[in-house]
Amino acid sequence: MQVTVLGMSPSWQDAGGACSGYLVEDGGDCVLLDCGSGVFSALRVHRDYVDVDAVVVSHMHGDHFLDLFPYACALTFAPRQQGEHPARPQLLLPPRATANVRAVADATSLPGVVEGAFRVREYDVTETLAIGDLRVRFQPVPHYIATNAIEVASGNGGVRFTYGADHRPTDVLRDFAARTDLLILEATLPEPERRGPRGHMTPAEAGAHAAGCDAARLVLTHISDELDRDWALAQARQAYDGPIEIARPGAVYTL
Ligand SMILES: [Zn+2]
Ligand SMILES: [Zn+2]
Repeated sequence: MQVTVLGMSPSWQDAGGACSGYLVEDGGDCVLLDCGSGVFSALRVHRDYVDVDAVVVSHMHGDHFLDLFPYACALTFAPRQQGEHPARPQLLLPPRATANVRAVADATSLPGVVEGAFRVREYDVTETLAIGDLRVRFQPVPHYIATNAIEVASGNGGVRFTYGADHRPTDVLRDFAARTDLLILEATLPEPERRGPRGHMTPAEAGAHAAGCDAARLVLTHISDELDRDWALAQARQAYDGPIEIARPGAVYTL
């Protein structure tokens, strides 16, 4: 299994970067986890967009889904998509999220563009999806809105990749991501939120989560280029003694 970071910025892009997007490839199967702003362009560097089997969205914050719109435009308007058998990847949205996609399509004066371009389905968080030989599972995590961590496992159960999406500190990943081969966790905050409900983690908290899961490898993501990366790594290393990196666009992890 190969995991490619297409974008790892928080809700505003790094210079030259993109928001959340992770391409998972295994054998002939290809799944895109999240499709935030800038991800469609990054996808095109690594893979032909008509060859993606499914896009799976963790939650409906714009930095995780807004590039579904240029992606849908490509699938709809590209000259090579005008034949009898245009590519129509699956789009797996969180429960009740089709309405969000519909509203943005309406607001951009392209009503129905996403639903026409993809085979759209809302997943059930309790189901295990089969996408080719890949198996995809979900774990609801606490964030400002309904959000799901996502696991992609090879069909033979040989390797597992776990993507935490966005969340505040939580115990629910401990079982879901136990002994995963690659754990990508957000490390958005320089320090815990001072006001209101929490929705994100610090690098130190991400490190503690990776240790609690006994993950084989930790990649910190959803972290702005305006934060000090060496500081973030040192913070995460306080609790976790496995290999740690900060995600960068184009990074490839082979499991
Ligand atoms: Zn986010
Ligand atoms: Zn979010």
